Amino acid sequence: MALIHNLGFPRIGLKRELKKALESYWQEAIGREQLEQTGRALRRRHWEIQASAGLDWIPVGDFSWYDHVLDTTCLLGAIPERFGCSGSAVDLDTYFLMARGRAPGREPQPACELTKWFDTNYHYLVPELMPELKFSVSSEKLFAEFEEAKSILGQKAKPVLLGPLTWLYLGKCQGEVCAKLALLPRVLPVYGEILTRLASQGARWVQIDEPILALDLDQNWRAAFESAYYQLQIKDLNLLLAVYFGPLRDNLKLACELPVAGLHVDAVRAPEELERVHDWLPTHKVLSVGIIDGRNVWRTDLEEAWRRLKPLRTRPNLWLAPSCSLLHVPVDLGIETKLDEELKSWLAFAVQKLDELALLKKALGQGQNSIAARWEENRRALASRRTSARVTHPEARRRLTELTPAMEQRASPYLVRRQAQRQKHCLPLLPTTTIGSFPQTAAIRSKRQEFKQGKIDVTAYRSFLAEQIAECIRKQEACGLDVLVHGEVERSDMVEYFAEQLEGFAVTEHGWVQSYGSRCVRPPIVYGDVWRPEPMTVDWICYAQSLTSKPVKGILTGPVTMLKWSFVRDDQPPRDTCLQIALALRDEVGDLERAGITVIQIDEPALREGLPLRQEARSEYLHWATRAFRLASCGVRDDTQIHTHMCYAEFHDILPAIADLDADVITLETARSKMELLKTFACFRYANEIGPGIYDVHSPNVPSIGEMVSLLEQAVDCIPIERLWVNPDCGLKTRQWPEVEMALKNMVEAANIVRRRYTTNR
Ligand code: GLN
Ligand code: ZN
Repeated sequence: MALIHNLGFPRIGLKRELKKALESYWQEAIGREQLEQTGRALRRRHWEIQASAGLDWIPVGDFSWYDHVLDTTCLLGAIPERFGCSGSAVDLDTYFLMARGRAPGREPQPACELTKWFDTNYHYLVPELMPELKFSVSSEKLFAEFEEAKSILGQKAKPVLLGPLTWLYLGKCQGEVCAKLALLPRVLPVYGEILTRLASQGARWVQIDEPILALDLDQNWRAAFESAYYQLQIKDLNLLLAVYFGPLRDNLKLACELPVAGLHVDAVRAPEELERVHDWLPTHKVLSVGIIDGRNVWRTDLEEAWRRLKPLRTRPNLWLAPSCSLLHVPVDLGIETKLDEELKSWLAFAVQKLDELALLKKALGQGQNSIAARWEENRRALASRRTSARVTHPEARRRLTELTPAMEQRASPYLVRRQAQRQKHCLPLLPTTTIGSFPQTAAIRSKRQEFKQGKIDVTAYRSFLAEQIAECIRKQEACGLDVLVHGEVERSDMVEYFAEQLEGFAVTEHGWVQSYGSRCVRPPIVYGDVWRPEPMTVDWICYAQSLTSKPVKGILTGPVTMLKWSFVRDDQPPRDTCLQIALALRDEVGDLERAGITVIQIDEPALREGLPLRQEARSEYLHWATRAFRLASCGVRDDTQIHTHMCYAEFHDILPAIADLDADVITLETARSKMELLKTFACFRYANEIGPGIYDVHSPNVPSIGEMVSLLEQAVDCIPIERLWVNPDCGLKTRQWPEVEMALKNMVEAANIVRRRYTTNR
């Protein structure tokens, strides 16, 4: 009989209890004991939910105060020296210091770097690796939580641990000579000690996550897996090696042969591999099949899952699980009251997914008839999803079949457009602009709340927004900026705002997913064909434009970012969904142009993060992603200037794709990397205009004129000055007005200085 288990449960809490407790603790509104109590209550609740779903093994150690990679770093005692606690146990405040740093004022301390966890929207704290790093068990968290879990779950408690190779792989070497794998011989004994302790506490299974086995690994890393897992064999303890987020491919044989007691594979992202794993994994080992999608919110097709599992039915030691940790989906669909009932019947969040797992177990053990009513309900819901009129929009589908190459290309090449745009705009050398959003003040947030709760009507709310926009325009004029924005005050979130207005998208009330630490996002759900019933931004942008003689940029969220930051329908290729979004945006771009808007920015901060994990899939992705951008942006006249903006990313490996977007201007995050990126753009001979960010918006510091002049001069060394723009790194949403005004005045002055120097030297 198959057993069922889970790889990880969302830790943030149904109503974001963890977020609230953490933020209160950081603001010193609650003490340590109260924070601990919230943590204990959440863990207990989550264990109880999983136990009552009927799971045979329940994860322990998946709870985290901030991030599970940071937990592992602390467990191993790999604490960077600047946090000064080497050799002793890491206390919670040091842990938070590593996660969040300390703001300037009180001995500033930079936090560890934050970056994307594989191709998800979750961010982890990057381990800092140094050749002289010493490792020792330095945190009691996992062991204490295991004790806690045993008292609630008994034998069902299964500790979860990030594996040594993935931990090292995700780390970043500091200093010149530091090979990650050279640290392995010192890391392994600590893992040995951890596992031995867990065994002595009574653990029978430990789940050890090695998702890097789903990446392209070189020979050194593969060999390291073999030697590492030979050393990690502990008497009376079974290791379940968990791989997820993609197929194993050329690591499949290796994974099947490692000396561990079980292997978990992702049968959602790699269904085609299941048969081979079944053949190659010896039957005395546990095969854990990740059969329920842990990355998306769709209800499982039980019939389909059953078909996939059938050949394995007689296999001894078969386990079933979600494909990966449920960290990436919201907690419980049950509390959504505003979602339409039909749509709701197509969905499954974490709690519902565990229930599906239990159904599959029963069906597998006792036959489909044992769950006849539920089986029928599942079948009906899926049939309604396939046939529902709300999913299909014939016009949106027809447009997809009528795409022409001409639609994906501007009418003239960049150099011709540039002439037309210069004549129209008469911008100075080094034009100054911002990325779109201005401070979202407490007043704005509370007005939005009042409006949502029905305390003020739409007229009152709109006149409030209009005042805010007018104020924002006045302030930008006072700063002396050349191309203005309206400030995005009407948008709570750059994706949600558009999702609320596009057909085919739904938004939830409580569908929160952890992004990093206490930060959560509520991704919209694309359930059907996407189309635009009416203009989405034209009113506000035109209103802003009516207040000034300077050009106001229309700001839209790009098709790839809309796609990547949503839960996307799984019944057609993501490419098609993306192109539909692109067509809806194309209509918006056209309307903006007709309304007299001459500069339009289409943000694509998520373009880079959508890159598939495996090399072989990348060019196809980049091909449709850039197509979608061009489809959205290319329907305009030569003299309409298209901008794009990207941030938070390694752009080096996607430069050809960025050039392919053929945007007239790209603004980028570069302040923190001191213009490094521009050298790459220069070598690549990027031909269009670039605005390298010279104001780091992630810090409350006000950059001085001098600092920004020096960054601009570095930029002028790389890129011809006629093609440079002057702007911050990203939107100013999270900043405060006084610092923003000072910083922007300094930025404009810096541009003036460099401009003057250049024109007098010529
Ligand atoms: N226009 C958006 C803003 O200014 C861009 C945000 C982003 O790049 N993440 O907030
Ligand atoms: Zn940005």
